[in-house]
Amino acid sequence: MTTTTTHQNWIDGRWQDAKSGQTFERENPADGEIIGRFPDSGPEDVADAVKAAAEAFEGWRSTPAPKRAEILFRAAEMMLARKEDLARDVTIEMGKVLAEARGDVQEAIDMTYYVAGEGRRQAGQTIPSELPDKLCMTFRQPHGVVAAITPWNFPTAIPCWKLMPALITGNTAVFKPSPFSPLSATNLVRILEEAGLPPGVVNLVFGGDEAGAALVEDPRVAMVSFTGSLEVGREIAAYCGRHGRRVHLELGGKNAIIVLDDADLDLAIDGAVWSAFGTSGQRCTAASRMIVQDRVREEFTGRLVTRANALRLGNGLDAGTDVGPVVNTESLAKIARYMDIGRDEGAAIAAGGARAMGDGSDGRSLDRGYFFQPTVFTGVQPSMRIAQEEIFGPVTDVITCLDLEHGVNIANDVPYGLVASIFTRDISKAMRAMERITTGIVYINAGTIGAEVQLPFGGTRGTGNGHREAGQAALDSYSEWKSVYIDYSGRLQKAQIDP
Ligand code: NAD
Repeated sequence: MTTTTTHQNWIDGRWQDAKSGQTFERENPADGEIIGRFPDSGPEDVADAVKAAAEAFEGWRSTPAPKRAEILFRAAEMMLARKEDLARDVTIEMGKVLAEARGDVQEAIDMTYYVAGEGRRQAGQTIPSELPDKLCMTFRQPHGVVAAITPWNFPTAIPCWKLMPALITGNTAVFKPSPFSPLSATNLVRILEEAGLPPGVVNLVFGGDEAGAALVEDPRVAMVSFTGSLEVGREIAAYCGRHGRRVHLELGGKNAIIVLDDADLDLAIDGAVWSAFGTSGQRCTAASRMIVQDRVREEFTGRLVTRANALRLGNGLDAGTDVGPVVNTESLAKIARYMDIGRDEGAAIAAGGARAMGDGSDGRSLDRGYFFQPTVFTGVQPSMRIAQEEIFGPVTDVITCLDLEHGVNIANDVPYGLVASIFTRDISKAMRAMERITTGIVYINAGTIGAEVQLPFGGTRGTGNGHREAGQAALDSYSEWKSVYIDYSGRLQKAQIDP
């Protein structure tokens, strides 16, 4: 669906323009075609959205959780019914190939079903008291208004990772999606509306960084849930720290695949190609470092380069495309800068290394889109900037390690800690790696991507601040425990003092 429709914010159950009347356009990164016009919201729109969410809170928190769940379940059913259309819009607005866009939507569906199940399962604990005729128990309570600020690379899944657990635990929300993926945000919110979500419970405000900052700074926001870059995340965390606001951060990655000399190299290469170049390397879980034991490095590198050179670039809607465009022209320029940085540091470019031009996989020109050649750096030292900083494009490094311990140390020695993987046939080495790798997620004999919604998702060091999305851990992020003591002894009992 290529359209120049003007879209609106959704505030207090009404579709509306930005008060200023300002809009921005988003283009398809594969060909530069305008796909829609969206409100460029200012602080006044954000304030309206937060007000609506704050006013809807009491009604929503007192709606029984199983009833809240019914709405979410209906939303999941609708997403499933519309999966193909939703996936096409993902591809059109941010470029990933259709098969991966379907995966993005499926992850949103999985998360919504999973969380809907929690409507009847938000169990607390009953715990024995140290005193007679006294009952102790715990239950979850929501925070209030959650600000959900999201990036563009999983435009359906990430908003659902945030909104669904926030809603099931009784919070209301203001959702500020990335300006580079506004179509999926509209689609999701329309589904929530049709599923019967009451007005004000979720509010959608389009806009850029300023709208995001206004949302973070609104004192009626109880919690900020942010997924995006390290730089912006740290700014938000600093603000929230100063103002005593809860903040949940999911930031960047510099993820490694360790390949030991006993690995199944066919499998390792498949895992490496998928993890480095899927979504044009624009996944927080993308593998941007291949740490390869010296005995197999040459063979691994040769095969990786051959595979990278054979990948077909093009429009993600074309079934023959392996790798779509990167998201925008800034991203293209940033990736190109890292080519110079890598060369200056002494690394060699064994595959790719430049913007891709000419004919794409379906014969259409790549020139109007933002395509970058799948790139492999060799001769990389672990301390180089290209091995430490998140490039967020179809670029990966080959780094040599001498043995398991050396490989694990290199894998751990970066400012991020999202995910790592190891390929080995030696179960003892796999188990040792699993223990010693310090990322939040570890894969054995698989690439770095493929997280499932029933497990916690998140990372250590610069990747986050200790919170996790998904799984039961998400409920902990979006609620807090209340401890209740019920004394039915009829007398004043004193804990720690009565004999
Ligand atoms: P970004 O940080 O530029 O923007 C993310 C969101 O924050 C956008 O909605 C943006 O408009 C908003 N924003 C920007 N400045 C703001 C400010 N000062 N205050 C409030 N909001 C502000 O990131 P991006 O380019 O959209 O996404 C790519 C990044 O996201 C990568 O670093 C990637 O690793 C990370 N990411 C992390 C995960 C994870 O789960 N760890 C998942 C996906 C993406």
